[in-house]
Amino acid sequence: MVSRVIPVETFDLVIFGGTGDLAKRKILPSLYRRFVGGQIPDDARIIGAARADLDDAGYRALAEAALTEFIDPARRDTESVGRFLAHISYVAIDARGEGGWAKLAGLVRKTVVQAFYFSVAPTLFGDLAERLHRHHIAGRQSRIVVEKPFGRDLASAHDLNATLASHFAESQIYRIDHYLGKETVQNLMAVRFANILFEPLWNARHVDHVQITVAETVGVGGRGAYYDQSGAIRDMVQNHMMQLLCLIAMEAPYKFDPDAVRDEKLKVIRALEPVSPENIVRGQYRAAKDAPSYVQDAENPASTTESYIALRVDVANWRWKGTPFYLRTGKKLRARTSEIAIVFKEVPHSIFGDAEGWRENVLAIRLQPNEGMTLSVMIKEPGPGGMRLTEVPLDMSFAEALGEDGADIPDAYERLIMDVIRGNQTLFMRGDEVEAAWAWTDPIIAGWEARGDKPKPYDAGSSGPEDALMLLHRDGRRWREIAE
Ligand code: NAD
Repeated sequence: MVSRVIPVETFDLVIFGGTGDLAKRKILPSLYRRFVGGQIPDDARIIGAARADLDDAGYRALAEAALTEFIDPARRDTESVGRFLAHISYVAIDARGEGGWAKLAGLVRKTVVQAFYFSVAPTLFGDLAERLHRHHIAGRQSRIVVEKPFGRDLASAHDLNATLASHFAESQIYRIDHYLGKETVQNLMAVRFANILFEPLWNARHVDHVQITVAETVGVGGRGAYYDQSGAIRDMVQNHMMQLLCLIAMEAPYKFDPDAVRDEKLKVIRALEPVSPENIVRGQYRAAKDAPSYVQDAENPASTTESYIALRVDVANWRWKGTPFYLRTGKKLRARTSEIAIVFKEVPHSIFGDAEGWRENVLAIRLQPNEGMTLSVMIKEPGPGGMRLTEVPLDMSFAEALGEDGADIPDAYERLIMDVIRGNQTLFMRGDEVEAAWAWTDPIIAGWEARGDKPKPYDAGSSGPEDALMLLHRDGRRWREIAE
C-alpha cells in the first residue's frame, strides 16, 4: 500500500528554541522526514531562532548533527540532507531583549503561511507573542505552536491561555499533545467511527471496564529536578492519558472537524467524577542494588512526588455510568508499553455450562511497541476432548498489515507539524479542554497534599506498588500484565 503525500502550501516556520533538545530530537528530524517524503515545498523556509550566537552555517551544522544522531542511517543520505539544509537559516534572538527581532522581521514573509514554534520555556511565551506583534512579524495568517507543560494547575493554565489570547485568536494557537499525533491514537477514531462492529458495544451495557496503561522502564534520570515538580499526574495523566480517555469515551462528533471533535472531548472531561482517595494509588520506585531510588534521582530526599500513579476514573454520563476507567502510568516498570484495553462483559448465558477456559473478550490497542490492535475471541479448543474453550487473538500489527508503509509509521511530530501548516487543529488541544482537565486534576492533587499522603515504594522492574493491584481486586478485576 502506497501512502499518498498531499503537499502543503509553502511556509515560513520559525523555531524559537531551535538549538534546544526538542528541536534537535524531534522538530528538525520530523521536518527532514517530511522533506524526504516530498511534502516540503521548494520555497518553504525553516528559521531557527535561539540565544546562541550562530550564523546560518553554524545552525545548519547543528541541524546536520541532529539528523545524524536522530535519523536512522538507512533513511538519510548526504544529498537529501544537503538539499534539506538549504531550506534552513538562523537568527540569534533574545525573547526578553530586542536583539535579532528586526532581522527576523526582514526574513519572515507576509504572503505565505507563517508558523512560530515556541519550543522554549512557557515563561517566555508572553515575551515572544508580544514581540512578534510589536515588530509586525505576526499577523492574522500566523500560527503558533506551544509545547507541554501547559500550566501546572488551573490558575497557571488560565493565565497562559490569557497571555496567548491577548495576542492570538484561539484558531491560531496549536497546543501540542504529541500523543494525539500517534498513528494508533488517530486509529482509535477510525476504529470507532469507520466500523459498524464496535460502536453498538461501546457502552456500559457491554464494556465491563477500560484499562489505560503507559509504562516506562526508564527512571527520571537526568530530568529528576524537573520531574520532581510535576510527578506522574501532571506529566502523564492530566494531558496524554486524559486525551486517550476522551477518544475512547467521547460520543461520535457530527463530523471530523476540529471543533466538533474537541467539543465531544470536552464533554467527557466535564463528565468526569471527582476521584476519591481510595481510588488513587501513588508510588515511588525504591533503590535496587545497582540503581538509585526515585528520591536519589530527584536529588530530593524528602520528595513525596509520585513516579507511579493508578486511578479509578468514573465518567458520569449515560454511556459510561458503571464502567470504570482504570489508568496507570509509571517509571521503572517491568516493560515499556502503552496500551488501551477495552474489556467486555461476560456473555449473558453460557450454553456450554461451566466450560473451562472462558475469558472475556478484550480489544487491546497497542500504542507502543509494535503499534496495532488485538481482539481476543473465544473458540473451541481443537481436538476430540469435549467442548473446551480457548482464547485466540485476532492480531493486527499495523506495520505488517500496511506493508512497507507500515514499517515506516511517521513520528507524531511529523503529522502534527504538517497539520499546523495545513491549518488543521483537530489533533491539538483547545484552551477550554486544557483548563477543564486541570479543573478535574487540581482537587486530586490538593487532596493528597492536604492529607499528607506519601507514595508507596515499589521495586524497579515490577508492575508498581502492591496497592495498585488491590485497586482492581477490590472491584473483582485484575490488571493486564505489563509486557512488551
Ligand atoms: P532546552 O532547554 O533544551 O532548549 C531551550 C531553547 O530555548 C534553547 O534553544 C535556548 O537557546 C532557547 N532560549 C532560552 N532562553 C531564551 C531566550 N531568552 N530567548 C530566546 N531563546 C531562548 O529545552 P527543550 O527541552 O528543547 O524544551 C523546549 C520546550 O519544549 C519546553 O517548553 C519544554 O517543556 C517542551 N518540551 C520538551 C520536550 C523534550 O523532550 N525536550 C518534550 C516535551 C515538551
